[in-house]
Amino acid sequence: MVAELATLRDQIDEVDKALLNLLAKRLNLVAQVGEVKSQHGLPIYVPEREVSMLASRRKEAEQLGVPPDLIEDVLRRIMRESYTSENDKGFKTLKPEMGAVVIVGGHGKMGQLFSKLFKLSGYQVRVLEQHDWQQAETILSGAGLVVVSVPIHLTEQVIHRLPKLPEECILVDLASVKNPPLQAMLAVHNGPVLGLHPMFGPDVGSLAKQVIAYCDGRQPEAYQWLLEQLQVWGAKLQAISAVEHDKNMAFIQALRHFATFTYGLNLSQENVQLEQLLALSSPIYRLELAMIGRLFAQDAELYGDIIMSSEDNLALIKRYYTCFGNALSLLEKGDKAEFIAEFNQVKAWFGDYATHFLNESRTLLRQANDSRR
Ligand code: NAD
Repeated sequence: MVAELATLRDQIDEVDKALLNLLAKRLNLVAQVGEVKSQHGLPIYVPEREVSMLASRRKEAEQLGVPPDLIEDVLRRIMRESYTSENDKGFKTLKPEMGAVVIVGGHGKMGQLFSKLFKLSGYQVRVLEQHDWQQAETILSGAGLVVVSVPIHLTEQVIHRLPKLPEECILVDLASVKNPPLQAMLAVHNGPVLGLHPMFGPDVGSLAKQVIAYCDGRQPEAYQWLLEQLQVWGAKLQAISAVEHDKNMAFIQALRHFATFTYGLNLSQENVQLEQLLALSSPIYRLELAMIGRLFAQDAELYGDIIMSSEDNLALIKRYYTCFGNALSLLEKGDKAEFIAEFNQVKAWFGDYATHFLNESRTLLRQANDSRR
């Protein structure tokens, strides 16, 4: 019996080694694809190719009696690896004749990320940091693109401090709040203006599949190449007006971050034992705890700025507070029937999205479970 097991295990080892060899071969091919894409300025992430390739593999898996979800999981993981390594190949310069890229705040977290990407794409990059303003004219001379990447609360002030830029220079900001910086940029510069909000932090391995919201300011034809360059890096672009952007961010960022902040605050005041909570948490609870804890590993200044960026955020958070209080009164009254009625109302409001989110989170949770030791 035991000998039989050993033989089978040996065979599994052989198959795993064969898989490893195939994996090495695949990564090598992907590296060659990376070279070709880099030379021709093609995006590292092509959604249609990914969708059709996965669909074919799922069909073939079914014919072989392999669960289609298994091959999809494996391939997605391999592709993620490939996107990150495609970064190292460098990217095509889509606007070779352009003057230097100047990143104001270029030594900060996002500034460094974008500086690296522009350099990998063959652009000349200069940095204008907080102590460089005396040499600002020199640093900015002949600039083809100026990217403002300073803390949100300083963004408008810094934009107003910029000396007159060349007429054809593109002025861009990366702030997480869009309308006030966009208005400031339009006011100080007569040339092309664009607002960008990278919907990710500086720790992403690659821009593949990462969303960048963009708000047109002025002369969009002059910065189409820049939008294409972001796509070459793998980003998914989402056009939106600055006002709509800020309305949506109030929910995606301000309210969420504030709720997370207060939840963390409460955990600390209740002085719970995180170790025990973790030991008792299956993947879903672990993930929920991780989503809270990760906030506190980041920059308090940035989150403070995002939450406090507008009066509208405060009003929204106050409405949430009222809603929380109303929901609490259901508990005080012990009114389970009302709780269920409200629960079902919200369920109806979410509609098909509720099932969609259940399925999506199920996949995420399976992956979270895989990475646990
Ligand atoms: P950061 O604090 O890491 O960097 C800001 C940089 O600006 C620093 O190097 C600082 O020295 C410099 N700076 C400050 N005052 C200056 C001045 N007067 N002149 C020139 N430079 C000055 O901040 P960050 O996280 O890189 O954020 C930069 C921008 O990117 C913010 O607008 C933020 O909203 C946006 N953003 C950040 C993230 C993120 O997760 N960090 C995500 C999306 C967007």
